[in-house]
Amino acid sequence: MIIGPVANPPLNRAAESMSVKIAMIGVGYVGLVTGACLADLGHQVICVDKDVAKIESIKQGVIPIYEPGLDQLVAKHIASGRLQFSTDVASSVRGREVVFIAVGTPSSKETGRADLGYVHAAAREVGAALDRFTVVVTKSTVPVGTNRKVAAILSQVVTAPGGFAVASNPEFLREGAAISDFMEPTRVVVGCENEAAIATMRRIYAPLSAKNTPFLATAIETAEMIKYASNAFLAVKVTFINEISDLCEAVGADITAVALGMGLDHRIGPASLRVGPGWGGSCLPKDTRALEMTARDLGVPLRVVEAAMQSNADRKMEMAERIKRICGGDIEGKTIAVLGLTFKGQTDDMRESPSLDILPALIRSGAKVHAFDPSNPHDAAWMLPDVKLFQTPEAAAEGADALVVLTDWMIFKSYDLAEIARVMRDPTMIDLRNLYEAEAAQAAGFKRYIGLGTKPTGV
Ligand code: NAD
Repeated sequence: MIIGPVANPPLNRAAESMSVKIAMIGVGYVGLVTGACLADLGHQVICVDKDVAKIESIKQGVIPIYEPGLDQLVAKHIASGRLQFSTDVASSVRGREVVFIAVGTPSSKETGRADLGYVHAAAREVGAALDRFTVVVTKSTVPVGTNRKVAAILSQVVTAPGGFAVASNPEFLREGAAISDFMEPTRVVVGCENEAAIATMRRIYAPLSAKNTPFLATAIETAEMIKYASNAFLAVKVTFINEISDLCEAVGADITAVALGMGLDHRIGPASLRVGPGWGGSCLPKDTRALEMTARDLGVPLRVVEAAMQSNADRKMEMAERIKRICGGDIEGKTIAVLGLTFKGQTDDMRESPSLDILPALIRSGAKVHAFDPSNPHDAAWMLPDVKLFQTPEAAAEGADALVVLTDWMIFKSYDLAEIARVMRDPTMIDLRNLYEAEAAQAAGFKRYIGLGTKPTGV
């Protein structure tokens, strides 16, 4: 089933010659953003997902994920005719020059390796339907060797004249800033051995290259490794600042100023130096696990990455202990209010969020946990069945013995802190994102403000 007008958008002749006919398999956080952005770059895109409800929802104008600006961009290009939606892979890939595979690669529960079942299944289905030379591009994050495996699968099923080429084109967008990350990326990485396919990939990204975005054409294995090495490095960097934050507390230094002082050094840079309750999300945990498994299989130890993973797991448990300590040690029967459940602000993604470790630990110690998240994430109810969810921050804070800021939602800064403090039984703020200023919290009526890596106030 194809959704959306079929009329071609008005493009001038030069733009038309650059326009590429693309199919995007998988309409998740990456596929939907990438599909809409590629349409915005002038390409003809059809996005395909097996999830009929998801496609129906988009058809009704309801975007199934929270991503700032995405609803307008999707609506714009459904209207322009450059963005279509379908649930049928076979009919959607026919006649396309490029097929992107952007399906999930979750961790296998048994092994911790990336589960490549969705990628392999998509490759099989795509390959069987091809009717002309097509570039099959893996957008999903996949371990080194996967694109060769995709090529092997395609070789078994492709009968199209002209055959196929494979390319690895890892995605670096961040949820919550996905559109600007796609439109103004730091680099485009394409691992491919076929000159014609590389030329097509250059055509796709030409509007970004025109804005001086580096286009890195590499070997396939190199492209696959760039993605994992980047995510592992970010995980290490965040872990590093979190550990330095603990040391700041012990020596009486201030982590915010320390991070600023470090980040001004160009060799270090300010990004990913924000202290927090531990990293989570749909990428860093599963990608570090998958990379570690690859390294182990090959007998090449990645001790720094392994240490970061362990430190991060310990940190989440330590955050629960910290909350308990601040609440007097015994939290049996106490009510802890929580602001933010998603793994970071500006997204509704709950995958591997620190909240999934920290809040159950509080509940096991006898606390009642009342939470509010601005994205109202639909996964929260089943992922955190014992957490009571509220529709406003004030309702979650009513009668609470402490308020824990767990996620760095920018909108939190606009909340009426005085009203939140007023309805609490004990107005104590435990800020695990250092989102607020201690003085502002106290001026609003919080008796105590305890951030990370800095001296507590009012204790
Ligand atoms: P997601 O779970 O949100 O979406 C995957 C979609 O693929 C689902 O809607 C699913 O129904 C669909 N799907 C699965 N098999 C299919 C098939 N055979 N045909 C059609 N549709 C199919 O996943 P995501 O977060 O978008 O991640 C996708 C990939 O991109 C992963 O490998 C991830 O590691 C990588 N990535 C994610 C991010 C991010 O921030 N989420 C960033 C960079 C890279």
